[in-house]
Amino acid sequence: MPMQDASPAAPAVALRVALLAVIYFVAARLSLTFAIPPGFATALWPPSGIALAAVLLYGNRVWPGIWLGAALVNLTAGATVLTAVGIGTGNTLEALIGALLTRRYIGDAGRFECGGDVIRFVALAAVSAAFAASVGLLATQLNGNLTVSQLLVNWWTWWQGDTTGILLLTPLILNWMTRADSLPPAASKAEAAAVCVLLPGVTWLVFSQSNLNQPAWPITFAIIALIIWIALRFRQREVTIAVALVCAIAVKYTVEGCGPFVRTSHNESLLLLLAFISTVAITGLVLSAVLAERHAAYTRLTEVLELLQAQAITDALTGLYNRRFLGDFLPREWARAERKDGSLAIIMIDLDRFKQANDTYGHATGDLLLTEIGNLLKSHIRGSDIACRYGGEEFTLVLPDSTPEGALRRAEEIRSVIKRLSFDVNGATLQITASLGIALYPQHAQSADELLHAADCALYAAKRNGRDRVEIASAANRETGPLPGGAWQAKTLLD
Ligand code: GH3
Ligand code: MG
Ligand code: MG
Repeated sequence: MPMQDASPAAPAVALRVALLAVIYFVAARLSLTFAIPPGFATALWPPSGIALAAVLLYGNRVWPGIWLGAALVNLTAGATVLTAVGIGTGNTLEALIGALLTRRYIGDAGRFECGGDVIRFVALAAVSAAFAASVGLLATQLNGNLTVSQLLVNWWTWWQGDTTGILLLTPLILNWMTRADSLPPAASKAEAAAVCVLLPGVTWLVFSQSNLNQPAWPITFAIIALIIWIALRFRQREVTIAVALVCAIAVKYTVEGCGPFVRTSHNESLLLLLAFISTVAITGLVLSAVLAERHAAYTRLTEVLELLQAQAITDALTGLYNRRFLGDFLPREWARAERKDGSLAIIMIDLDRFKQANDTYGHATGDLLLTEIGNLLKSHIRGSDIACRYGGEEFTLVLPDSTPEGALRRAEEIRSVIKRLSFDVNGATLQITASLGIALYPQHAQSADELLHAADCALYAAKRNGRDRVEIASAANRETGPLPGGAWQAKTLLD
């Protein structure tokens, strides 16, 4: 269980056990006020929710806290030692079974991740509460003499109290204890203030009425609308508070004989109350879980889309931009330079005799060399410049707002750092040089395509003139043309 911390020391466990026993005891004493009619079984039993949350948070080892708290509270409520021990055992079993089922079917229940989690949780709360109700009543019957129908009524109340206790308290505690929600709520402070007034106000209005002939049915539905509002605009943790608050008010007044669910038969009242509590809790929790699920899916989708977009314009080997990106970027920069009456330079770089290096040292070494050149180019560009891998062992730099001198200086700098690079390949030293061609807007071209062509021709001139050198585009090198079958494929690319 991920929420369980790694084997705390024995004193820490003992402290948690003692603390849980005290909390269970106090919560149980308060809950006994919900009993209809006075007895061991009550309409809402929050200690069951506290116990399950404690086991999920701190591990099975805290069970003695539940056992002690439950046994003691029953002793103080007049049960015999044997009955108190039996009831304590039933409540402990309930929490352990509930935790086992939660871990098995929901996993880390700090927050419900999808609607199915909530439905499974409701089912497992009902199943584990059945253990507490059955064992507890058996223990009560050791000294009691309840008739079968009394037993059934008590079982039903007991089971319902524990189920709703788990349903309301466990998600509330887990949500607030595990910091599962990192996103702030979508609602504004004014909306939060409105909810804080409206929810308790409307719930009170519905349930505090004691006129049984005119139950406030219509506004009872307004509570569901408020819960939906909260689920849509707030986090799951706020929903758990809202649900617990509404249900606590509903139980308090129904037990006191007020509100729309009061009937002459206690059983019928409880049944209506259970239906209401389940509706409120399931509506709120399922909705907020589904929204959380949708949000998580949306976030994952956005990440994947961003990754795909980045991959579409990135060269996988060097991490530089690819030719596709250049095809988009260069015309845009060209248009910008034209509009602003600015300048633009491109530098074409082609490694010298790279085929030979590949043949001598292997393709893998060639790849390594290309990666290193990529890193080197990345570190030699300014913020507004971009570096692309144009193809094989050819690279292009685009330098917006560059002067001819600036472009030449940059090209010379790159040529000399490439020359100074040296690689140790199995004891042998591998060195490489590069030829570079520069073309500038507005001096050398009438369009982005032409600019690439001019830079390519200059590069070809550098190759022809001995390699390991930089040439600037000129009418003379334009006449000779680009590298045969070399870098010049921009026309097809940019068309
Ligand atoms: P030049 O000085 O005239 O440019 O000679 P060169 O050998 O560099 O030129 P050429 O275009 O004939 O060869 C380029 C070589 O680049 C051919 C190919 O083996 C190699 N190459 C292209 N892409 C890759 C790659 O991704 N990895 C590796 N290791 N080699 C590549
Ligand atoms: Mg080449
Ligand atoms: Mg080459």
